[in-house]
Parts: sequence; structure tokens; C-alpha cells
Amino acid sequence: MEKRPPLKKVIQAPRGSTLNTQGWVQEAALRMLMNNLDPEVAERPQDLVVYGGIGKAARDWKSYEAIVETLKRLKNDETLLIQSGKPVAVFRTHRDAPRVLLANSNLVPRWADWNHFHELDRKGLMMYGQMTAGSWIYIGSQGILQGTYETFAACARQHFGGSLKGRIVVTAGLGGMGGAQPLAVTLNEGVMIAVEADQSRIQRRLDTHYLDHMATDLSEAIRLAEQAKTEGNPLSIGLVGNAAEVLPKMVEIGFIPDVVTDQTSAHDPLNGYLPQGLMLAEADEMRSHHPDTLVARAKESMAIHVQAMLEMKKRGAVAFDYGNNIRQVAYDEGVTDAFSFPGFVPAYIRPQFCEGKGPFRWVALSGDPADIHKTDEVILREFADNTHLCRWIRMAQQQVAFQGLPARICWLGYGERARFGRIINEMVAQGELKAPIVIGRDHLDSGSVASPNRETEGMKDGSDAVADWPILNALINAVGGASWVSVHHGGGVGMGYSLHAGMVIVADGSVEAAQRLERVLTTDPGMGVVRHADAGYESAIRTAHDQGMDLPMLQS
Ligand code: NAD
Repeated sequence: MEKRPPLKKVIQAPRGSTLNTQGWVQEAALRMLMNNLDPEVAERPQDLVVYGGIGKAARDWKSYEAIVETLKRLKNDETLLIQSGKPVAVFRTHRDAPRVLLANSNLVPRWADWNHFHELDRKGLMMYGQMTAGSWIYIGSQGILQGTYETFAACARQHFGGSLKGRIVVTAGLGGMGGAQPLAVTLNEGVMIAVEADQSRIQRRLDTHYLDHMATDLSEAIRLAEQAKTEGNPLSIGLVGNAAEVLPKMVEIGFIPDVVTDQTSAHDPLNGYLPQGLMLAEADEMRSHHPDTLVARAKESMAIHVQAMLEMKKRGAVAFDYGNNIRQVAYDEGVTDAFSFPGFVPAYIRPQFCEGKGPFRWVALSGDPADIHKTDEVILREFADNTHLCRWIRMAQQQVAFQGLPARICWLGYGERARFGRIINEMVAQGELKAPIVIGRDHLDSGSVASPNRETEGMKDGSDAVADWPILNALINAVGGASWVSVHHGGGVGMGYSLHAGMVIVADGSVEAAQRLERVLTTDPGMGVVRHADAGYESAIRTAHDQGMDLPMLQS
């Protein structure tokens, strides 16, 4: 029998300034692993699942316990190796090396599909790391909130004169990341109907103040949405239902929203998408006994779902794919025009990637919200000329409830990240913060992902499928002294469709940390600038020149 925590045991990261390990870097890894599994943070902590379908923090409970024990004894000149959520070795390295290196869900390309993965997973040989689940830097829905807010803001700028006021957005999926959508839309003054098959997920978003209202019936949801639209009031409604049933019904009755997107876990047909006509318990049963039937039915339903999105687009809605690969599944099922609406990266986000900007985040290891509020003040002071950023920080302070260890996210670019890291490290050194700060980012960043249906969709030079970039990103960050570095496969869009790298670095106030922060917070966003400059994007080339970066083959 697999060792599981006693039923009532709740994992929560230690708080305060007392070490449970041999150093702050190991302590940060320990606390962030535990924080990923905090019930306030994780979607299904009892199964080690953090978010994004079956994105896990450790392979099994035995591995989890072994990671915790190893981190506690790990010395300041040792490095722990994690292979798909299992601790496999400790080597003597050196003080400036990462304390942990992780490789999750990587398969040799010829075998890089869900079938092979599930077979290995069943044998206990692998786990799915998603992005920040297996690399221990998930911070709950806030982690994706600003990106979602930025995406809807860019959508509003492009199509609706800068605001979603008086506009209705339809989506599906209120899971770990999808749960950020309602708040992101209301922060952009819009109205959202989010279809979600699992009522408990809707309840969770209500409890954490990401959602305003639950509806159990389509006509009620439409009535509330239309009323809010007419009055120009922001409102978000979670509608209990199956998107593959509700969206076609909307089309049938002629309800066409202004914007349509989707964040079900379509990247994983076995575990992430409920087929039409099934209850959740029926799908669970089928998953255990007839997985192939479940996968086939999920794919069929996704095709119907995408067809409804395409019809909404034809009738005037702005449609975009929100990074779950649903277009690919529909396309494979015979929906030949599935790719006629764009992914969110080429549509809205890439200009920021060109400047090395992406979802930068930091967490107060003390557990004290006051530490994060002090760092908010740093952003407001140091980046006062960036009014958009400052508006975000003020909004986040008022509207975002912390989940687990207090954390903040904001999109910072090349130059800005190193500057911020330097200041934070000084604050820790001066004792202005109660404990060190851990700094990291999503894998979904400017220079750390190869994913032709998402981050690298439609690259200017056609280099969408070139996967050297995330590997270089991980290598240079490891060499620079990041605290832990990860290389994953299949996050976001599923097996076979992405390779990506993560990095986390600790600001513990030491002189060594200052040097590491300077190096890593330069190379990491730098890779984003390099990747996009190499692909020929003007603003990336300009950024590289303005910042004095050394790109040997960059034409001036
Ligand atoms: P999750 O697994 O936590 O949540 C998915 C939700 O979809 C669940 O609550 C599930 O009940 C619901 N669902 C499944 N089938 C449904 C159906 N037919 N109708 C209605 N609801 C249904 O996943 P998550 O962390 O929220 O991520 C969602 C997807 O977004 C993933 O594919 C993820 O890879 C992708 N993604 C988004 C971003 C982003 O920038 N927002 C980034 C990375 C990945």
C-alpha cells in the first residue's frame, strides 16, 4: 500500500525565521514544495495534485516524504536531483550551484504522447509536473491572475476601445488557473459567464472572492449577464454545466457573447475534460475501467465545443484559445478550421515577451503578509513611471486574497527583474523583512517555453517547434546559480506539444545571493529577448540594443 498522509493531516509550509534545514535555499525549496500542497493552494492535495489537470508536486507520498527528509539534511554544497517527482540522488557540487535540479515528464520525442506517459505513470515511473506544480512555485490563482488580466486588457484595447465595460465574455473551466478568469474580467470592468462542470470548483472561487455569483441554469445566467451588461456593471457568474452542452445551446438560442475562450483542462483528454452527457462520478468510473472510451468521448465533445466557439466567432464574437490545446484536439477530430481563431500569446501577449516581460512572482517565506506589502511599496516607488504596473499592484493589494504563503505577481522585464531582486535582497539583509523572499516565475514566460500551439505559435521566422531555447534557458540559469531549476515536458498544452523550463532563486540577504540574483535575473529574462530578437521581432532587437546585450549575430 502506498504511504499516504493520515486523512486529516494538512500540509502547510512552516512560517517564521527559524530554519528546519541547513540553509535558506533548502528551506525555501521545502516551504515551497509544502506550500504547493497547502489545501488553500492546491486543487487536490490529497492526490498531490496542485493544478492543471494532474499537475503534481511529487510522484507519490513516499517520494514526497523522501524529498522532505533529503531537503532537511541537504548541505550548502550539495545538489538534489528530482526525476519526475522522485528524489534520485544527492551530489556534492558547490555553494553557488542550484540546491535542486528537476526534470519532470520528459519523454524521448518518438514516444512523447499521453499513451506512453500514462503507461509509465501507471507503473510508477513518471509524474506529470505541469509547469509550476512539479517545480514548486505555484502560488494559487493569483499566479495567473495578472497574466489573465493583461490578456483581457489587451483584448479590450484591440477590440473594444480599452475596457470590457458592457461586454460579455463566455468561458469554461474554473480550476486552478481558469479560476482567475472571472476576477480578471471584472477587473477589466466586464461581465463573465464561466461554465464549470464541477460545482465545488465554483464554490471555491466564490469562497476566495474570484467569482461573484453561482447559477445553475443557463437562462438565469444570461438574464443576470444581460442586465449587468446594460447597466455597465462588472459581474462574474459561474454556471454549473458542461461547456460542450452549454455553448451549443447558447448558439442555438442566439446568445452570442462579445468574447469567447476556454480554460477546461483540454490538454489532458483522460483527466481534464468532462465529455457531454456524463456526470463527474460516471467519468471517474469510466476513467478507471474504460479509459480509451473516456478519451474518445472527451475528444468528440471538445470538437463540438470548438465548433460552437467557431460559430460564435462567425456571428461576431472575438474568439481566442487560452493555452489548453483545445484547437488541436478539435482539428484532429476533423474540425479543419479549428485554428481559425488565434492563441492568446500571438494575439495579445507576445509584445511583452519581446521585452523579456512575463509573470514574475515572489513569496514571503516568513508567512507574514506585511512582508509582501513592503515589497509592493518597492514596486510603487521604483517603477512609479509605469502607471499600468502600479495600477495592478494597487488593485492586487485590495482585491487579491493570499492563498498559502503570501505572494505577489507582476510582469517585469529585462533590467527590471535584476533591479527588483537587488532591492529585495538588501531589504532582507537590513532586516526590513522578517525572513528571506523566494523569487520565481511561471514557465509560461518570455524565453523559457517551446510550444507551437501556445507560447511560440506563429513565430515570425517559423521557428515555432525549435526546442533548444528552453534548454538553454535552464542551463544558463543553473550556471548562474538559481536556487532550483527545472526542465519539463507537456505543460499547458499536453504531451508532445511543449518543452519548458522553470527557475526559482532565493534572496536571503547574503552577498552571494546578491551576485546570484544579479546573474540569474539578467540571464532569465535575457533569454526572452534573445529568443525573440533571433526570430526577428523589432522590439526585441531594439531592447537588445538599448540594453547593450551581446548577441553575436544580431544585425544592427
Ligand atoms: P484544472 O484542471 O484545475 O481545471 C479545469 C476545470 O475544467 C475543472 O474545474 C473541470 O471541472 C473543468 N471542466 C472540465 N471539463 C469541462 C467541461 N466539459 N465543461 C465545463 N467544465 C469542465 O486546470 P487549470 O489549472 O484551471 O488549467 C486549465 C487549462 O488552462 C489547462 O489546460 C492549462 O494547461 C491551461 N493553461 C492556461 C494558462 C493561462 O495562461 N491561463 C496557462 C497555462 C495553462
